[in-house]
Amino acid sequence: AAQAADESMRSYWSGMGEVFRRRFQLVTQFRRAVDQGSITVQYQPKISLADRELVGVEALVRWTHPELGAVPPSEFVEAIEATGSIDLLLEHVLEIVLAQIKVWVDRGLRIAVAVNLSVRNLSAPDFPATVAAGLERHGVEASLLTLEITESSVMADPERYLPVLRQLHALGVNLSVDDFGTGYSSLAYLRRLPIDEIKIDKSFVQGMITDLGDLAIVRAIIDLGHSLGLRVVAEGVEEEAARDALKTLRCDDLQGFLVSRPQPIDKLESWMNSTMV
Ligand code: C2E
Ligand code: CA
Ligand code: CA
Ligand code: CA
Repeated sequence: AAQAADESMRSYWSGMGEVFRRRFQLVTQFRRAVDQGSITVQYQPKISLADRELVGVEALVRWTHPELGAVPPSEFVEAIEATGSIDLLLEHVLEIVLAQIKVWVDRGLRIAVAVNLSVRNLSAPDFPATVAAGLERHGVEASLLTLEITESSVMADPERYLPVLRQLHALGVNLSVDDFGTGYSSLAYLRRLPIDEIKIDKSFVQGMITDLGDLAIVRAIIDLGHSLGLRVVAEGVEEEAARDALKTLRCDDLQGFLVSRPQPIDKLESWMNSTMV
């Protein structure tokens, strides 16, 4: 038995070694991956529930690693968050997105694009200036850019992030609170944040069909959002039953595999051509 325990400890530690080695690899190779073009974005449409029109798209970063294959953003974003690379990630994604918005505008299309922020991005002292400079350089209207920040990160220290959120809002960009319902919002702060939209976390959206508790939470978030004058988006919609329920509850927009998975730009454009007749 002692030997078996020994063996299991050994494989535990070598398993941990594997985890750390992979993490180290991601952190040290991120910059080069950006230079080599391995860090790209895919776009997921956001649709209005009332008339099924495209209201915008969300940019989601992708890393195709030569040895590891597709590395999930949840893994590498977390790994690079403690390093300066998190600013590089945002700059890189912003560059791609702003250039894309401009391409669309030149073709007569006004498509708002949402970019995910890490809380570390908000802490960079020159962050609003970086965003302003990017918009200016690409000649893109601020209202075509949305910045998404998770509820749990902002609400961990709302006093700290309020000034930077105000500066961003003053530029004219839209602010969205992501993963809403998981972050214990203080209602007093929620009211004071200069935000335009909240996104109901997909765990509730996916549970709402079978779980009355989740359904109650979804309903409460929609009503709360509307009473504060915010647009409410449901993410992770996979089933028609969820879409129908959300429509009945007067949720504004939806995103999810039911409508479309995140897709590379060419696939998104053929999707747009086939649905927006
Ligand atoms: P998120 O911002 O909450 O993005 C939604 C995630 O749910 C995406 O996963 C998306 O592909 C997935 N999703 C969309 N519809 C459905 C659905 O119907 N069902 C299910 N099961 N999933 C759905 P993804 O692309 O793996 O991204 C995971 C997280 O990584 C994001 O969560 C976001 O927190 C982070 N992330 C992605 N791109 C960036 C980025 O450019 N910068 C930063 N800082 N974080 C990013
Ligand atoms: Ca998001
Ligand atoms: Ca989310
Ligand atoms: Ca998330």
